Amino acid sequence: MKVRYKIYNLPFRYPFTISRGTKTHQPSFVVELEFMGITGYGEAPAIAYYNIPVEKMATDLETKRTFIEKFAFSDPERYWHYLHHLFPANPFLVCALDMAGWDLYGKLKGKQLYELWELDTAQAPVTDYTIGIDTIEKMVEKLAEKPWPIYKIKVGVENDIEMVTELRKHTNAVFRVDANAGWTLEQALHKIPLLKELGVELVEQPLSKDNWDGMKTLYVQSPLPLFADESCVAEQDVDRCKDHFHGINIKLTKCSGITPARRMIARARELNLQVMVGCMNESSIGNAAIAQLAPLLDHVDMDGPLLLAEDIAAGQTFNYGRIIYLQNTPGLGITGVHF
Ligand code: MG
Repeated sequence: MKVRYKIYNLPFRYPFTISRGTKTHQPSFVVELEFMGITGYGEAPAIAYYNIPVEKMATDLETKRTFIEKFAFSDPERYWHYLHHLFPANPFLVCALDMAGWDLYGKLKGKQLYELWELDTAQAPVTDYTIGIDTIEKMVEKLAEKPWPIYKIKVGVENDIEMVTELRKHTNAVFRVDANAGWTLEQALHKIPLLKELGVELVEQPLSKDNWDGMKTLYVQSPLPLFADESCVAEQDVDRCKDHFHGINIKLTKCSGITPARRMIARARELNLQVMVGCMNESSIGNAAIAQLAPLLDHVDMDGPLLLAEDIAAGQTFNYGRIIYLQNTPGLGITGVHF
């Protein structure tokens, strides 16, 4: 097996602001695995909050390149296990390689992953479209520019109720909000009932990631379902979300790939937690992996390629939020990778 990588710095269509800050570009690490003349691709965007820059992914890969290449590839789950032990401190790199392994595996079998997993794409939820934090005028403009059935609105700032109130005047679409750990318990207790009145369906990560006591209180009192994102990073975090959150938002990059994400979905179901998979501003490569899992989910947030001004592959497209899968493209369901 041969491994190659490329680093991209993909510009956003608009500067992307959440409660933690603003960025204009998304650095992303893309790997290519070549085996028996077939190539598989995987992606991991770097997120400053998780402190694994693309350079670290490249250095770690180079340090253990021979180990990555000498593995006798037969199935992606075994490969993930091997990678997980090779890079215990770099889930992002493991995610990119795991995803490439799954793409390769699907291509070897001549099927998209959802077909191999016997999933029905008609069950896939409609994706939301994210409205980042901006001036209220600009947020209204972004909303008007992209008519969509579900919007995910970034909140967690002083005037967020005012923001959502104004946006509500312009659409009857479903709203969900993501505070990105930006509220105190008191703020959350005050704001969530107001958001419910504004037709918001769910709240993502209201409190800081370690505020489990606060979440216990909020869980009992919140009139809206609460989803863990920053509090639910890896497999071992799923269990403690029970009785603190109503659901989890899985990100492939932070949990280290498709393989553990499938186990997290299964575990969440056992615990009666709802499941969302979210993007981290991936291009169409990483987004394709989310699409393969979509039929298993209650909610999906896979608008990365729509927020970026440049893409590095062609993959699934959307019809008013509904995923349209490419036909005759085995593996992740992507084509034309600029690598
Ligand atoms: Mg989030």
